[in-house]
Amino acid sequence: MIGAIAGDIAGSRFEFNNFKSKKFRLYHKRCRPTDDSVMSLAAAKAILDCDKDCNVLSDYAVRNMQELGRIYKNAGYGGTFFKWIWASHPHPYNSFGNGAAMRISPCGYAAGSLEEAKALSAAVTRISHDHPEGMKGAEAVATVIYLARTGSSREEIRKYIEDNYYRLDFTIDEIRPHYQFDVTCQGSVPVALEAFLESADFEDAIRLAVSAGGDSDTIGAMTGSVAEAYYGVPEDIIETVIGYLDARQMEILYYFEKRYPSKAISSDEENQTVFDILDRSVDKIIPAGTQIIVNGIDPDGSCHGFVEREQMIPDFSSFDQKA
Ligand SMILES: [Mg+2]
Repeated sequence: MIGAIAGDIAGSRFEFNNFKSKKFRLYHKRCRPTDDSVMSLAAAKAILDCDKDCNVLSDYAVRNMQELGRIYKNAGYGGTFFKWIWASHPHPYNSFGNGAAMRISPCGYAAGSLEEAKALSAAVTRISHDHPEGMKGAEAVATVIYLARTGSSREEIRKYIEDNYYRLDFTIDEIRPHYQFDVTCQGSVPVALEAFLESADFEDAIRLAVSAGGDSDTIGAMTGSVAEAYYGVPEDIIETVIGYLDARQMEILYYFEKRYPSKAISSDEENQTVFDILDRSVDKIIPAGTQIIVNGIDPDGSCHGFVEREQMIPDFSSFDQKA
């Protein structure tokens, strides 16, 4: 699921300032994780909390989306979804916004079968985006992730999308000059899927997605989530992306990738997972509240200290206390 976050962050500075070219700095100081990343993490935590039990997943998804949505309240939600986050009794509101598809990737990674990918997607989506086009947009992304990570070819995936979800009778080059901001599923999910299908590798997929214009962070998130399943995510991108996350976000990502590992691309080792890279990098991340053991004080008053390795590894117990 880190692919969704990677695409969201890369596209974040172009959402309201489209850049219709593939030539841009992928990660810039003005980039940030937005609602796409926050809600993907909420969906991931819901799946972990209930061990992907579809009977209760919807309840857990509501709880986690409201909880994280209220903490990260400036992440850039649509107006109706923002009200949903703060509602005492949140109801689905017949939405076909692409919020349904931008957050769905954990379902594709957790699924053990195509049928399960659809069931998980439905459980997470119907809590808010219960319009048929909202349900369809989410399911399309979740099932394509499942197919891509279980060895389907690009041609098989294209055929599956066209047979079941959307006509892909355009290229990104063809639509780029005139494609505009469109937050509907039907107006953005096909663009994201086409960007993946035309791409050469993970980074190229994100560049293509952003270059189409429109809702750049969300298209980036959707394309990134699928491209991760097909190609794996390069190690340097993983390391850059986690630099944008705080400890709370990192905790969820860490445990989701541990439970449902996906492919990473490392130049010096084969068969690496995203979790392997996260686990190596976790030493650099000290969660809030970690006890630092001081073992020396310089004459100028500055302290030397260390943190026990176990303490550096994100721990859900601290997450629960903060919530
Ligand atoms: Mg966003």
